[in-house]
Amino acid sequence: MSLSVELKDLEVLTTNAKQIQDDVLKEILTLNANTEYLKRFLDGSSDKELFKKNVPVVSYNDVKPYIERVANGEPSDVISGGTITRFVQSTGTSGGIHKIFPVNDKYIENLGYLLAVSSLITSNDKVDEKGKKMAFLYNRLESKTPSGLALSSSFTSYFMSDYFKNRSSKCNSEYTSPDQVILCPDNNQSVYCHLLCGLSQREKVVGVSATFAHALIKAINALQIYWKELSSNIRSGHVSEWITDLDCKNAVSAILGGPDPELADVIEQECSHKSWEGIITRLWPKAKFIECIVTGQMAQYIPTLDFYSNKLPIVSMVYGSSESIFGVNVDPLSKPQDVSYTFLPNISYFEFLPIDHEEDMNTIVDLVGVKLGCYYETVVTSYFGLHRYLIGDILQVTGFYNNTPQFRFVRRKNIVLSVNSEATTEQDILKGLASATLVLESSNSMLTGFTCYADISSFPGHYVFYWELKAKDVDDVVELDENVLEECCYALEESFDALYKRLRSKEGSIGALEIKVVQQGTFDSLMEYFISKGGSVAQYKTPMCINSSETLAVLEDKVIARFYSQKSPPLNL
Ligand code: AMP
Repeated sequence: MSLSVELKDLEVLTTNAKQIQDDVLKEILTLNANTEYLKRFLDGSSDKELFKKNVPVVSYNDVKPYIERVANGEPSDVISGGTITRFVQSTGTSGGIHKIFPVNDKYIENLGYLLAVSSLITSNDKVDEKGKKMAFLYNRLESKTPSGLALSSSFTSYFMSDYFKNRSSKCNSEYTSPDQVILCPDNNQSVYCHLLCGLSQREKVVGVSATFAHALIKAINALQIYWKELSSNIRSGHVSEWITDLDCKNAVSAILGGPDPELADVIEQECSHKSWEGIITRLWPKAKFIECIVTGQMAQYIPTLDFYSNKLPIVSMVYGSSESIFGVNVDPLSKPQDVSYTFLPNISYFEFLPIDHEEDMNTIVDLVGVKLGCYYETVVTSYFGLHRYLIGDILQVTGFYNNTPQFRFVRRKNIVLSVNSEATTEQDILKGLASATLVLESSNSMLTGFTCYADISSFPGHYVFYWELKAKDVDDVVELDENVLEECCYALEESFDALYKRLRSKEGSIGALEIKVVQQGTFDSLMEYFISKGGSVAQYKTPMCINSSETLAVLEDKVIARFYSQKSPPLNL
């Protein structure tokens, strides 16, 4: 299995979006006509009008019983007309619960297609110059559903497939790491080996990439821990003993070639600088771009990436989920805040529920029916058994590429902080964070992880932000400057909306915002906690808001200091 992708295909797809979407729906309805799920509503018909009239818009809990029956061994046609060959599992960090979805090879092919199109776009736009990408890609061991089908994250399903093995070199700029490193299921060993391969080929590295920004920050953290050992491996030409995955070790040894004391000296010299500002460009001087998703909740990592990379352009290319792939960024060099994703009309059938009319399902529009500037929640009908399924992401239409709309990722639905009648959205939180990190810049520390929750255990309830801080200079310890951190609390509050400020400053029904500083490594522990529940490193997103007591306990254990806002935010007139 291999994929042949040409950029002109994208032109054709986006020009004929309407027809392609109609064809996709027809194909899906014909394929699934006799499933137990769809028969109830359509009685075997594949008519679009009937579909729109009869098939309800649903969320995960509505389809979960059907999905679980297939996972437990009932035939695929409970929900899907195609053969189900495996399940993919969402990370559970964006919506709070782990969801599983039945899929087959077509799903993996779609993922391969998305990655191939995105590679083509970056090479075409000269972002991705001739050279290699140091890509922090990870795999995990698959588990099994009770009926024995493979269950894994979507990336694992792709890496384990022939689509990955046979990927076209035209579509994928070469990685510095051999496939054995990507496929190694122990993510500590793989991050170490990714770094070793990237360092030993430092002159060839033109780009540094990961799926989500978080995975890239994690790689830099690993570099801070291991650089002495990495340079000693390069000096001797031997890979450390603790790399026990033999396929991985042999492949990395072959890349090292032999001892390289000169390179080891350079690495030691760069990494022993007091400040790690610009470390990426110092170690990989030919790197021209960073590639990872920095939209949505990943935006919080932009300042840290800018710090480590001396503000190399960040290319945020793809948008997808376990349920379906959505789109690709056709303008790779757009600024993170301007990134939009052009939907791919051949992947699933897409509809859009205007967010001001969530109660009225009659207002749902087709992909080509969305209006510029308006906000929608995506509703997906997939080849694998999801029909009119609400994804939970809020998007805004920013333009059209040929005849296909482009969307800015706005926020997850339902992720809000609230202790009273106010609703502080993910976007409000990110805005607050941007101004609080500006305040933090006057200190010696930077923010490396955060999450928050609404504490209503006492009255008045208040917002709590958990912050993990790190000293800007590697050998320094974080100095917790009370004034700066109290100002950070205030900067967060000041950027929330008018209702928050009224309830906080006038009515006193919201208490002062609190920042709880946690020990270094806390957010790694949080990730490990989620991974232990079935998540994957490649897809991991730190939850922006916490609402489970178990997760809170992981954080509460690690709190080292608390700071409160000392003044009330001004009322908006
Ligand atoms: P999962 O199914 O665990 O991979 O999570 C999918 C979710 O991750 C999506 O529904 C989005 O909320 C988020 N996500 C994926 N790609 C992006 C992106 N490019 N920008 C912002 N959020 C994204």
